[in-house]
Amino acid sequence: MEYLKGMGPLRADLLKKELGIFTYQDLLYHFPFRHIDKTSINRIADLNLSMEYVQIRGRVVYKEIIGDKSARRLLVHFSDGTGNIELAWFKGISWIEKMLNQESMYSVFGKLGFFLGKPQLVHPEIEAIDLHAPAKNFLEPVYSTTEKLKTKGLGGRQLGKITIHLFNVLKEKDFPENLPQPIVEKLKLLSRYEALRNIHFPASTLLYEQSLRRLKFEEFFITQIRLARVRSERHRKSKGVVFQKVGSLFNQFYKEHLPFELTGAQKRVIKEIRADTATGHQMNRLLQGDVGSGKTIVALLVMLLAIDNGYQACLMAPTEILARQHFISLSELTSAMPLNIKLLTGSTPVKERKGLLKELTEGSLQILIGTHALIEDPVVFRNLGFVVIDEQHRFGVAQRAKLWKKATLPPHMLVMTATPIPRTLAMTAYGDLDYSIMDELPPGRIPVQTVHRLDDQRTRVMDFLRTEIDAGRQVYMIFPLIEESAKLDYENLMSGYENVKAFFPEPRFWISMVHGRQPAEQKKTNMQRFVSGDTQIMVSTTVIEVGVNVPNATVMVIESSEKFGLAQLHQLRGRVGRGAEKSYCVLMTSNQLSNDARERLRIMTSTNNGFEIAEKDMELRGPGEIEGTRQSGALNFKLADIVKDKPVLDAAREIASQLVEEDPELEQPQNQNLRNYLMSLEGKTPWSKIS
Ligand code: ADP
Ligand code: MG
Repeated sequence: MEYLKGMGPLRADLLKKELGIFTYQDLLYHFPFRHIDKTSINRIADLNLSMEYVQIRGRVVYKEIIGDKSARRLLVHFSDGTGNIELAWFKGISWIEKMLNQESMYSVFGKLGFFLGKPQLVHPEIEAIDLHAPAKNFLEPVYSTTEKLKTKGLGGRQLGKITIHLFNVLKEKDFPENLPQPIVEKLKLLSRYEALRNIHFPASTLLYEQSLRRLKFEEFFITQIRLARVRSERHRKSKGVVFQKVGSLFNQFYKEHLPFELTGAQKRVIKEIRADTATGHQMNRLLQGDVGSGKTIVALLVMLLAIDNGYQACLMAPTEILARQHFISLSELTSAMPLNIKLLTGSTPVKERKGLLKELTEGSLQILIGTHALIEDPVVFRNLGFVVIDEQHRFGVAQRAKLWKKATLPPHMLVMTATPIPRTLAMTAYGDLDYSIMDELPPGRIPVQTVHRLDDQRTRVMDFLRTEIDAGRQVYMIFPLIEESAKLDYENLMSGYENVKAFFPEPRFWISMVHGRQPAEQKKTNMQRFVSGDTQIMVSTTVIEVGVNVPNATVMVIESSEKFGLAQLHQLRGRVGRGAEKSYCVLMTSNQLSNDARERLRIMTSTNNGFEIAEKDMELRGPGEIEGTRQSGALNFKLADIVKDKPVLDAAREIASQLVEEDPELEQPQNQNLRNYLMSLEGKTPWSKIS
């Protein structure tokens, strides 16, 4: 890098530190975020506030140096015959002053400002026009840069000069094609060289558009190929435990204890998992199901399958409340069966823990349910065969690996999402996983009715709650607890609690309160009292958000609901509508709402479909903000956008999957350049000058 003209070791070093540009390739893939059209020449008479960069041709009328010391500046009065403009310099004054003369014609280019209503250019570029030279005719690139780089002469436009040098140094053959030729031809894509050249220095707007199209496809395609290869490799090479037979536990449960008929989606997913786990390869599957679609029972059936085949199973939940609830409901569901199920969380007493770990190592403990405590070192299974991660897609690769280490062969993994994520996102952020979807709710559910109410309608809302409670139902009231405003939110929760108490006095009404500052024990008791129906009202922060199942609860009131994101609102709403009675979700807000908040409320009151909500959420906030994908890195596309360029992503995904299916090791001749390129990305081979 440092040998590039205009670079040198100092700047090269700074480029590494500031922008992560180490190689020629990095520089070429540091794309301009826009171009300045230097082909058009402005008339001074036409200049107005809406213009940003302007180019003017004319002559110096007169120049003056005014002010002294730090206020010293050169002012040049410049005219093109239609009007006058002032050019100003604060640095390099004497040099520029000497250079400019009144005889020559100049071209001036810069960012337009207005000073006291008069047009002005500060530190413009200026050059004498050689009337014999061919007219300059190009779109000049502007790059993102940093303050530090700017002070070292690597501003947004100077980077372009360096890039030009790079193109001068390199030959076309230094940009070998990285996509298989048949794909380039079929999709009528520009070659890699042409695309890179024209994304920086477009010969025309059309070529720029075509470069963009090609490079966006390339971005998606390369990531999709890599993901497809991880999937394919696992399918072909990984060794996993085999769940060969459907045994007595599975059958007994299915025939005698299943409390309901499975939905078509549940049956389909179980089939998919059974097929996967019988192959001898390790399963790594993401199960996406809307809130309330019945993921738990699917997990239980597969756990029974694992045990029937001689393996242990575990289920990991994000919170203690949820882990406990799973433990209770799975224990109840299987109470008539010879099964050893236990719960392990941070608050399991030492003595109990000891016994439990012993059973686990010996193998007599078949199902272990718990929190993150499960991945800690002292937890040793005898033969772990199946792991369920509930309600969190965030569970990272490193954590997964930790669980793997607990078995000689890696156990099968089923990751169940908390709320649906858009398909496009799943395709990129979790594209290395297999993917199942449950888009069907159990029959007989009456859709939750969602309404928006203002704070001054509170009395009516409370009256409504009373009618529901009098009819024997339970209600939730959720208060926000946002880190940035934790203290205030906490006070709101407390005063909210007092209010609710005033409306619903004991002993006719009983209230549970749960929040993050309570000791685990207290949280547990309060939660339990609500679950068992001893209390009718649950006042809480979002600690109960995920997974909690109280079918008798029919109303979910969300206070300051404008503070919540869509995914969270949908999750919370999913806590009601789980029983036979009609349920309601009341979104409380103040009168003053931002447009964004208004839109979120509109979406919530217009649909119950989590997949639809997820799509809208991504449109509103952008893919990078969606829960569980922030750190994935899979979304760091430079040009492509998974929302706006969805058709390109779909095409790239499809073509990549097909290619990997036909040629998993990329051995066919037409796939050699792709293969070489991928290897160069992994640092395995030098491929070309720029890779
Ligand atoms: P989630 O997918 O949100 O985790 P759960 O597994 O907690 O959903 O299931 C929600 C509720 O639906 C539970 O009360 C469960 O017993 C019930 N349920 C699950 N599957 C069915 C079904 N096929 N028919 C009727 N009820 C079901
Ligand atoms: Mg669940």
